[in-house]
Amino acid sequence: MHEWAALEVHDCQRCELWKTRTQIVNGSGNLQAAVMFTAEAPGKTEDLKGIGFQGQAGKLFEAILFHLGLTREIIWLNNAVRCRPLNGGKNRTPRMDEVAACRPWLMEDIKQVEPHIIVTMGRIAYESVSGRRDFSENRGTVVNVGFGPALFPLFHPAYLIYRRSARPVMCQDLVALGHYLDKLDIPRIKHADTDTTFCLP
Ligand code: URA
Repeated sequence: MHEWAALEVHDCQRCELWKTRTQIVNGSGNLQAAVMFTAEAPGKTEDLKGIGFQGQAGKLFEAILFHLGLTREIIWLNNAVRCRPLNGGKNRTPRMDEVAACRPWLMEDIKQVEPHIIVTMGRIAYESVSGRRDFSENRGTVVNVGFGPALFPLFHPAYLIYRRSARPVMCQDLVALGHYLDKLDIPRIKHADTDTTFCLP
C-alpha cells in the first residue's frame, strides 16, 4: 500500500469508463504537497501502470518539473479523469459527463492535500478544477476561483509534442509560474546544470 492510500478510489462506476479500464489511476506523490498538478486523463501506459504521466508526455512532464526545481516526490499529481477514455483502442479526450462524474474525487484530493497552488495542464483540467470556461484568456497567469488555492493554467505537455511552436510560450509561462512559487515561498531545487532543462537559457 502507498503512503497516499488515503486518497485511493476503488471500484468506481460513476461513469462508463470502468468497463474498459485496467485500473483506476489515482493521484500520486506527496500528501503534504504545496503544489498540485492536475492533468487530463490516463493513457495506455498509465492505465497499465496505475501512475500518472508515463511515456513521452511523462518525460516532458518531468522535464517541466525539473525546470521548475520540483520533483514527483514533493508534488501531488492527479488527473481530471481517473480512468482511460478509449475510442476504438485509442486514447481520446474525456467527455464532459466523464469529467463531471470524476470531479468529486478531484475535489476530495484538493480538500485532503490542501495545496497552496494548483497547476492545471490543458483546458480540460483547468475547466474541471475551476468550473470556468476561460482557459485561453488565463493560461500563464494566476487565477483565483473563489474557493481553494489559486490556479495556474498551463498547456498540456502532450500539446507541446505536436505543436512545437507552443514551447517558447510554455517557457514564458514557466518563468511566471516560478516567480509565483517563489512568492509563495515554495522550496525549489536550483539546478547548476541547465543543459537538460526544458527551456534553455
Ligand atoms: N496525459 C494526462 O493528461 N495524464 C496522464 O496521466 C498521462 C497523459
